[in-house]
Amino acid sequence: MVGSAITRKLQSEGYTNLITRTSSELDLRNQAAVADFFAEEQPEYVFLAAAKVGGIMANNTYRAEFLYDNLMIESNIIHQAYVTGVKKLLFLGSSCIYPKLAPQPLKEEYLLSGFLEATNEPYAIAKITGIKLCESYRSQYGCNFISAMPTNLYGPNDNYDLQGSHVLPALIRKFHEAKINDQPSVEVWGTGSPRREFLHADDLADACFYLMQHYSDESFVNIGTGEDVTIRELAELVKETIGFEGELRWNTEKPDGTPRKLMDVSRLHSMGWKHTTELKEGIEQTYQDFLANEVLYVE
Ligand code: GDP
Repeated sequence: MVGSAITRKLQSEGYTNLITRTSSELDLRNQAAVADFFAEEQPEYVFLAAAKVGGIMANNTYRAEFLYDNLMIESNIIHQAYVTGVKKLLFLGSSCIYPKLAPQPLKEEYLLSGFLEATNEPYAIAKITGIKLCESYRSQYGCNFISAMPTNLYGPNDNYDLQGSHVLPALIRKFHEAKINDQPSVEVWGTGSPRREFLHADDLADACFYLMQHYSDESFVNIGTGEDVTIRELAELVKETIGFEGELRWNTEKPDGTPRKLMDVSRLHSMGWKHTTELKEGIEQTYQDFLANEVLYVE
């Protein structure tokens, strides 16, 4: 989702010399394969969007994979970017790097000030390591490697697998299927009280392009909208957009995860960047994209 959004953004800005690889073409966990790729292609600018990602169940179930895959991907790419003299690299992390009970909104300086949320601790540790790799390669070798931490994302090419996905694509699929099958209700996980912030992938790509052009400091930058909703409000919004008329059934056997993770985006706003797609409009667009690509997304 993020890689394709960044590619669309760069193409719309007129860039033609883009080097991309799908995960089946290049296994970024493989040190030798990544070294060969960098030696051969010699990229000048690197957007490191590749990661093993997923929703609350996937993070909590595949804990070893979320830690190992992400550590390998980041270490291999960041190290080879240094070895081959990449001019600038942008590493993308996540809002789950912050302590579970950090004050809200989350300021960049709250990193490593408390315990992490248990359901995604391995993923968060890997992403914190990515930040530290960028900082360390900058301080020891003078590399211009920057990091940005996006909030929860959604948009074209999202993962719609109900066990592995994040909440927003899961709700789009569930309400859509319930509507066409005339089901009386839809199961929604947890209590509905956690709050989450959502950013459209095209806005994220725009912010990444902006940072690649204008930002070269050591400290990482939050990317979000600065606004959040409860899961209950989100579910009502998706239900209304899709036109499902049945009930919501809250399954409190499923975890809520962290109570809130709202980004403080004042650093990004003070640089002159702000998102453009509001949540309601973004959900409408994403539902249209889902309908157009349902066969691809739901196999
Ligand atoms: P998180 O932001 O890391 O907690 O990941 P998710 O996007 O997977 O979940 C966010 C919140 O939405 C949690 O409180 C979930 O329990 C809740 N949620 C409600 N229904 C669903 C669902 O169908 N799928 C997912 N992934 N989360 C859901």
